[in-house]
Amino acid sequence: MPQYEYDLFVIGAGSGGVRAARLAAKAGARVSIAEQVQIGGTCVLRGCVPKKFFVYASEYSQAFRDAKGFGWTVDWARFDWPTLRDAVQNEVNRLSGLYTKNLEAAGVTMWDDRAIVVDPHSVRLVRSGRIMSAERILIATGGHTLRPHSKGQDLGITSTDAFTLKELPSSIVIAGGGYIAVEFATIYSGLGVDTTIIYRGERILRGFDHDVRAHVQADLERSGVKIVVGSVIDEIAPLKDGRKLVSLSNSMKIETDHVMWAVGREPNTANMGLEAIGVRLTQRGAVAVDEFSRSSVPSIWAVGDVTDRVNLTPVAIREAMAFVETEFMARPTAFDHADVASAVFSRPPVGAVGLTEEQAREKGHKLNIYRSVFRPMKHILANNEQRTLMKLIVDSETDRVLGVHIAGVDSPEQIQLAAIAVKAGLTKAQWDSTCAVHPTGAEELVLMGEPVAHDNEAPA
Ligand SMILES: Cc1cc2nc3c(=O)[nH]c(=O)nc-3n(C[C@H](O)[C@H](O)[C@H](O)COP(=O)(O)OP(=O)(O)OC[C@H]3O[C@@H](n4cnc5c(N)ncnc54)[C@H](O)[C@@H]3O)c2cc1C
Repeated sequence: MPQYEYDLFVIGAGSGGVRAARLAAKAGARVSIAEQVQIGGTCVLRGCVPKKFFVYASEYSQAFRDAKGFGWTVDWARFDWPTLRDAVQNEVNRLSGLYTKNLEAAGVTMWDDRAIVVDPHSVRLVRSGRIMSAERILIATGGHTLRPHSKGQDLGITSTDAFTLKELPSSIVIAGGGYIAVEFATIYSGLGVDTTIIYRGERILRGFDHDVRAHVQADLERSGVKIVVGSVIDEIAPLKDGRKLVSLSNSMKIETDHVMWAVGREPNTANMGLEAIGVRLTQRGAVAVDEFSRSSVPSIWAVGDVTDRVNLTPVAIREAMAFVETEFMARPTAFDHADVASAVFSRPPVGAVGLTEEQAREKGHKLNIYRSVFRPMKHILANNEQRTLMKLIVDSETDRVLGVHIAGVDSPEQIQLAAIAVKAGLTKAQWDSTCAVHPTGAEELVLMGEPVAHDNEAPA
């Protein structure tokens, strides 16, 4: 008789949890998974997927304007919020159903309940009170939106609420300057909403290359998004008509339909019994893990946002796959977090991989910087002023391309391919030996001949 009811108990059915449960079950393990909201998690239900549909919807307003330059007249264009909102909800629910079917087909037992850890080999379902044992427990509980401690903070919505508002607001104030804040500003302003970003720093998109940050900030402002920097929300007060009065630390006051918090996310580890059984948490409350995603308790692992490493869906999935390969397929595998590409679906969108100029200098690299700013062909007849920025960070001693940063049309698609070259460690000379595809925007990536800045000469 096996000692435990399950070989693996997964807590949380988001990107990481679902992948780990399904693969482990397919490898022959007896697997159970608990989900407290809905199978699919943040990415499918409240993140990447609905967000991208909303971004697509928001791009039509500019596309209709651009169309005029190509001879089209689209004067009749109207936008209907409930049509978009409901279509997106239908689609994410369909995807959630697919995830559920796949788990069923793999033989995973599912629990529609919150689960907490009781001891290193047991979990308890909170609603039913049922306790189950497992040889291994995987924490894949993701994260949640942080709300700052300002007065009236509960009057603000989060990104989760932003997808399901009853009506399209006429105005919105978004607190935060990270990618979620910037993407929602892009969405709402593209849909015609009067949009203001309030950001405590001087430049949005902290962590991205400084040229990209400046480029996107300037272009968002050019396209009508108001950006108030160096300021935070002190108070949100209700007004009689349901609107809100926002008071900022710089004494500004703004009346708005909605305030959205996008000031960061934190890991879901509270009240889960983790610390009581010796699972070490980081200062930010994430589960501290080693390169194999094992926690300080040998029978407990954690993957995805709850570990606060690189908080992106493909990373959660790869960490989950590495965990299953190590523990259930006898192939010790550690996911390499270096050179993970990422995108911001802003206006213009951003694609980035590898080191920023600042990071490369901090690491002591001597650099050649290649930069190109141009108006994409599609924007010329359209009389659209938006420009593309492309930047390559190259080690001037080894000629290796350390980072690629693009802000412009199609950059999230372009960066996936550039990421292969960066991950493979190719040199600038190898990039340049690749023949251009003409006429495209991406061809500029292999045509940047002279550095705009260099620390020393590359070796002969
Ligand atoms: C608005 C937004 C946009 C995003 N856009 C992108 C993007 O474009 N690209 C990208 O790569 N990433 C994006 N992300 C990040 C991405 O969604 C996450 O990195 C990813 O979902 C992490 O997967 P996970 O499995 O770690 O956690 P999650 O997907 O969050 O899943 C965790 C699950 O655990 C459940 N849970 C929590 N506690 C318990 C418990 N005690 N018992 C049972 N169940 C529990 C939760 O309900 C949730 O379903 C976005 C995130 C947000 C919020």
